Parts: sequence; structure tokens; C-alpha cells
Amino acid sequence: MRDDIDLHLHTAHVGCANETMSVPALLAKCEELGYTHIAITDHYNGPHHAEAQRAIREDLRAYDGPLQITWGVELTIADADAGTLTADEATVEEFGWEFVIGGPHGRYGETDVDAIIATQHRLMLATLRNPLVDALVHPWWFSRGEFAPGKEMAWMTDMSRFPTWHVEELGEVAVETGTAIEMNADAILHQDTYTPRFHEHYLAYMARLHELGATFTVASDAHDIKQVEYAKNAARFLADAGVPDERIVVPAATELG
Ligand SMILES: [Zn+2]
Ligand SMILES: [Zn+2]
Repeated sequence: MRDDIDLHLHTAHVGCANETMSVPALLAKCEELGYTHIAITDHYNGPHHAEAQRAIREDLRAYDGPLQITWGVELTIADADAGTLTADEATVEEFGWEFVIGGPHGRYGETDVDAIIATQHRLMLATLRNPLVDALVHPWWFSRGEFAPGKEMAWMTDMSRFPTWHVEELGEVAVETGTAIEMNADAILHQDTYTPRFHEHYLAYMARLHELGATFTVASDAHDIKQVEYAKNAARFLADAGVPDERIVVPAATELG
């Protein structure tokens, strides 16, 4: 079980994570938890995040400790029709990100349940096929607000409505493109809007992706310092799904010099 890694961490610089997630504080927390290798993957939703991204990199350069660190980024969908992400190859090169994770974040205007599922699936495939992407983030995550009483997402108490061929196709494309599937703790395991039954189905979903030959990442997706330890639960969940350590991806550490 790889409970010593966390490949999805936010920082206070971009402002999605809170002030407890200063780079020095979160690196100290990772050391305290016994992590050996982490990836810093804050958001880049467009040029308005450029300054924050540069500030993170400066903080990482100042680090002199035992952690192996990969300098990465989390992208989201830029254009839902085209399935494009919020950074292109030139931008990834400019910032020097060596680990790119991404995927859909929302319903993209869909209100019908089956249309929501179809759109998520299409955008997840587009993300897997994007040659810049190393890992698809949090399959089937929707924000808390989408589940509020009276909202369309109140239906998602389990995964029984998801067509079986979706997981087959996702697994096939992940294997074909060599893109990892993320096991996300904060957005999936610790989000209380998801039911125990949903999590049971999610375990079977991960087990099936493993059978199909997919690789995986372990992720806390922490936005608060208390959530950094959640990565260990993602590692345990993958182990429970039968995923062996050799299927868990750990990227090379970045020379931050
Ligand atoms: Zn995300
Ligand atoms: Zn995230």
C-alpha cells in the first residue's frame, strides 16, 4: 500500500486552498505524516493564476528537506464542446510543470441526469486522450452544491445509473494512452454527500479499472492542512480494491534548483 505518497496538493497561493496551506506548512505536514514523495498540483484555470504559480515554485525552490517533490498542476476543462483543458503545451513548458493532472469540474450546463453522466464520460475520455495529461482527477466528483436539496444531483446516491460500458471504455482508453486514474480522498471518500452505497460501487469501479489494466495515483486533494493525511485513506481504498503497488504511479522528482 502506497500510504507514503500524495500526488494532488493545493496551496494557499492560488486561494482555493485556505491559509493553513502555506507551502512551508504543508511540506512540514507531509514530512510529519511520513510521506516520501508528493506532487504540488495547484490550479491553473488561466493567466489569472500565473503569479500564484510562480510564487509556489519560488517557495519550493527554498525547500531543503527529505521529501521528493514533483512540480505539477491541476487543469480543468476550458471548452466543454471541444474537451480542451486550461493550459496548452506552451504554457506547460513555460511553467515547467512535470506532472499534469486534470479533468471535468461540474455539469457544464447539463440538467438531465443521463446527459450529465454522458458529458462527464465524454470529458473524462477527452482528458485521458490529451497528451499533456498524466492523471485524470477525481472521476465522478461533483461539488457539494450540486447535491443540495432540489438540485438535479440529488440522484447520485450510487453508481447504478452509470452505463457499464463507460467503465470499460474509460479503462481501455486509460491503458491505451498510459494515463493514470486518480484515487481522490477529499473529493470522493471524504465528501459526505456521497453515500456508503456510492463508495461501495466506487470500490468495484476501481477494481474493474484495475482488471482492465489501468494505473492509478494516490491523492488527498487537500485544501486544508488537516486533509493532507487523507491521502493514506486513498491508498487504503486502492489496496481494498485489489490494486497492487506496482500499478500506482509515482512520477520523477523535479529538480527545483
Ligand atoms: Zn479538481
Ligand atoms: Zn484539486
